[in-house]
Amino acid sequence: MPESKKLPPAKPDPEEEKKQREQMQRRMSFSLSYLLVGILFLWLFQEFVLTPMMIQATEIPYSEFKQKLANKQIVKVTLRENDIIGEMKNPTPNATPATLPFETVGTAKSDPKLIEQLEAAGVSYSFQRPPSPIGSFFMAYVLPLLLLGGFWYLMYRRATGGAGGLGNIFGISKSKATEVKASDVGVTFKDVGGADEAIAELQEIIQFLKSPEKFAKLGGRIPKGVLLVGPPGTGKTLLAKATAGEAGTSFFETSGSEFVEMFVGVGAARVRDLFEQARKAAPAIVFIDEIDAIGQSRAGAIRIGGNDEREQTLNQLLAEIDGFKTSTSAPVIIMAATNRPEVLDPALLRAGRFDRQIVVGNPDLQGRLQILKIHSRGIKLAPDFDLERAARMTPGFSGADLANVMNEAALLAARRNADAVTLDDFSAAIERVIAGLEKKSRVMNEGERRTVAYHEAGHALIAELVPHGDPVSKISIVPRSRGALGYTMQMPTEDRYLMTLEELQDRIAVMLGGRAAEKVVCGQISTGASDDIMRATELARRMVTEFGMSEKLGSVRYAGQPLQYLGGTLEDSSHLSQETRQLIDREVQRIVTEQYERAQNLLREHRDALEKLTQLLLTKETVDGSAVKQVLGK
Ligand code: ADP
Ligand code: ZN
Ligand code: MG
Repeated sequence: MPESKKLPPAKPDPEEEKKQREQMQRRMSFSLSYLLVGILFLWLFQEFVLTPMMIQATEIPYSEFKQKLANKQIVKVTLRENDIIGEMKNPTPNATPATLPFETVGTAKSDPKLIEQLEAAGVSYSFQRPPSPIGSFFMAYVLPLLLLGGFWYLMYRRATGGAGGLGNIFGISKSKATEVKASDVGVTFKDVGGADEAIAELQEIIQFLKSPEKFAKLGGRIPKGVLLVGPPGTGKTLLAKATAGEAGTSFFETSGSEFVEMFVGVGAARVRDLFEQARKAAPAIVFIDEIDAIGQSRAGAIRIGGNDEREQTLNQLLAEIDGFKTSTSAPVIIMAATNRPEVLDPALLRAGRFDRQIVVGNPDLQGRLQILKIHSRGIKLAPDFDLERAARMTPGFSGADLANVMNEAALLAARRNADAVTLDDFSAAIERVIAGLEKKSRVMNEGERRTVAYHEAGHALIAELVPHGDPVSKISIVPRSRGALGYTMQMPTEDRYLMTLEELQDRIAVMLGGRAAEKVVCGQISTGASDDIMRATELARRMVTEFGMSEKLGSVRYAGQPLQYLGGTLEDSSHLSQETRQLIDREVQRIVTEQYERAQNLLREHRDALEKLTQLLLTKETVDGSAVKQVLGK
């Protein structure tokens, strides 16, 4: 059970903002290209279809017409309702065409002698039927609409995968994924530091790609999808590239935002195209970076606009993942990365899709040391530059931050014309980088680190000290995600379906162990326990209102009705009297306070162990469960 500390919400990530802006720009330029294509199409239509239909006649005055008629220059006329059109001989002799169309305003009614004269001149003449109103309506409104509609339909058909169509020509439905040759990737696992666990899992994936038969022999199913999860800058993209570099297979790289377009169906078509390409190139890895752009939960908040498109794209992705059998001769494995796994649609995460999830966290001391080694490869360090001290100076930094600090240090050294980078340059660079980082609330000062260490040690000790606590598997003061400053992981020994009152009380005590430690040691409390408090309060409230565990209130249900299909509880407390509500609140408060006191007392009794465990955490940053038993002398 991870315990986490919450800080005030971090400011929006500038990287994320940039990404959104880029996406907007892409959308703009995309719809602009649609508009241009539309205009071009209309122009072509007018130029080559409409214009030839209309005879480009020269308009001549009626007098000239009469004169030409007298001179036998007129060949043919049609008498229309308001005007006369016809053909006259070309004034330039022997030129082609021999006759030219003309029109003139005038009617047989206004010139009663006209018919006579026409007959005298031997001109073939005819009258035109008045235009049918339906016909002109058709020409003026229906035809253009039909054409426009047809155009859009073709686009749409193409985009959603119908064969042929105009979209084909414009290629909007082509996936923008680029195939990268393994030799061009240029990174291997040697370039990734502090991610040994992730690398071990990825090695296995590479084995699947290289010798799928070996695994399929016994009937096992080769995994389809691998999801890399972790905070920004921890090397998820780097790991995916390194996997391609190591595996030596075709590698298709794309980003979730490539699939999000203005027009419904385009994203889905791109997904289809991408998988088609990958299957042809198999064995292959398809990597979708920042998959949250398409993989957002379809339930959840109501989104305005772009909803349909995202949904279609996501459905297509799911269908593609389900659709292909990982063939043993030519496997395709999908990798994806995200720093917001909580927004992903549960359908993506279920078994058979992204069934392997690899957590890439911020590096601990050893990890930071490795990363600094990697990023100082090309940098001239002073002989006394102690990389381990440098690693100690940078708790909470991500791989990207460390790369940045190392680079900044080299620049600072160059500025003072030194011939090697010293630790002083490095610490100056840290300050410089921290100025940018503090906004993201990732870096702690020494005092905060101590508080976090006491807090996590408190959780761990209480978990070990109460009779029903789940054993601690790992404690860390390396921030694992944005907002959390440390965590204590507990491994339940078995699945529990029933819990007794004592077990629930122990659980609350563990949740409050962090704050209790702060109180016992420092005599003061911090904002870091807000998440613990929320969860403890929630559990206590359920004990009172759902499990009937308060003697004062008895075995009566006070909570709202559970929603039948959606899970969750309908918060309707209107049936409760004012007094009952007060009583519930008081009981919740009693339960929580009792456990808080109990945790404090336990920690006072084991003050030595708390001190030892905290020291251990401050030096090592991450310790496993055995350390807790050890400090308690078990
Ligand atoms: P993410 O995709 O997780 O946000 P990236 O993979 O884009 O992070 O990392 C950005 C850069 O930071 C990388 O190109 C690399 O230089 C550096 N970096 C991040 N993590 C590591 C790591 N574990 N080892 C080495 N370098 C790293
Ligand atoms: Zn906590
Ligand atoms: Mg990335």
